[in-house]
Amino acid sequence: MKTHYVIPIFIPEKACPFRCVYCNQYHISATLQSPMPEEITKTIDTYLQHMPPHAFKRIAFFGGSFTGMSIDEQNQYLDLTLPYIEKGLIDEIQLSTRPDYITPQILVNLKQFHVGIIELGAQSLKDDVLKQANRGHTVRDVEVASQLIRQYGFKLGLQMMIGLPGDSYDKAMFTANKIIEWGADYTRIYPALVIKDTELAQLYLNKQYTPLPLDEAVRWCMNLLDLFIKHNVNILRIGLHPSEGLINATHLLAGPFHVSFKELVLSAWWAEHFYKKIGEQRGNSIVISVNSKQVNAAIGYKRQNKNNLLSQFKFVTYILDDSLHMWESNYTIH
Ligand code: SF4
Repeated sequence: MKTHYVIPIFIPEKACPFRCVYCNQYHISATLQSPMPEEITKTIDTYLQHMPPHAFKRIAFFGGSFTGMSIDEQNQYLDLTLPYIEKGLIDEIQLSTRPDYITPQILVNLKQFHVGIIELGAQSLKDDVLKQANRGHTVRDVEVASQLIRQYGFKLGLQMMIGLPGDSYDKAMFTANKIIEWGADYTRIYPALVIKDTELAQLYLNKQYTPLPLDEAVRWCMNLLDLFIKHNVNILRIGLHPSEGLINATHLLAGPFHVSFKELVLSAWWAEHFYKKIGEQRGNSIVISVNSKQVNAAIGYKRQNKNNLLSQFKFVTYILDDSLHMWESNYTIH
């Protein structure tokens, strides 16, 4: 299977008519300019120079509700990427948008430009949570948009957010099960963070909202990850990108942020995996084979999983075996 490379193009939200409780794009957008056409082509060319020629390459428009723009504006961006597709330099275009910005007319237009993946910010598939988050769309909107996207032959991504006001572990699992049922190929899982200058920040300061503690967010994500693995839904991201504003807390007020959030989740998943497989067996040594892509997570965040196993075995060795699936392991005990 070819390695996939992504060229990200950030399009700031221009005039989002909504105000989701957790979003501060409204403030950020005021200071951000949309990239000029020459900047976009320069970005693509620079990325391409550093990518292996035979890899699978995708341009991803992030940051805004792409299909919320007029068709003319969408086409201005897509006109820039089309020549790369036609020359075989890029394999696919991906974009993210809101579920209520999907219509047959929009999809027909995107098809002409070789868009392959459409990601929707679903966040929750419980109406009471969507309402409290001020998302401005319903669960039914996500369902209809998902059906249309698949019907028109696009791959579907559905992003979810955990720990929003009114959310619960059961509602998050319900959302994940709907994402699977509606045939999503991809997902992203974000824990809700309290970002300054948002409505959520106000609710938090008024003590009307309590964010998930970090360990709870990790536990929810670990169980969601397990569910998505079992149903072959590709997980593109767990946790927000640790931007400077989050790391130095100039933007972050509260919530389950950790620079290595994804590693914490993967490490917890492997700890569970080993516990289910190995249990409380003891011995002199254990040799564990894992896929090279997962070896660090299998050893654990700060070597936690290896240290746990060292309480049961005198010697713990990990070996790489890329014939194993990403989420599989084998072991022998002596
Ligand atoms: S998260 Fe909500 S408020 Fe923010 S840009 Fe997207 S739709 Fe608009």
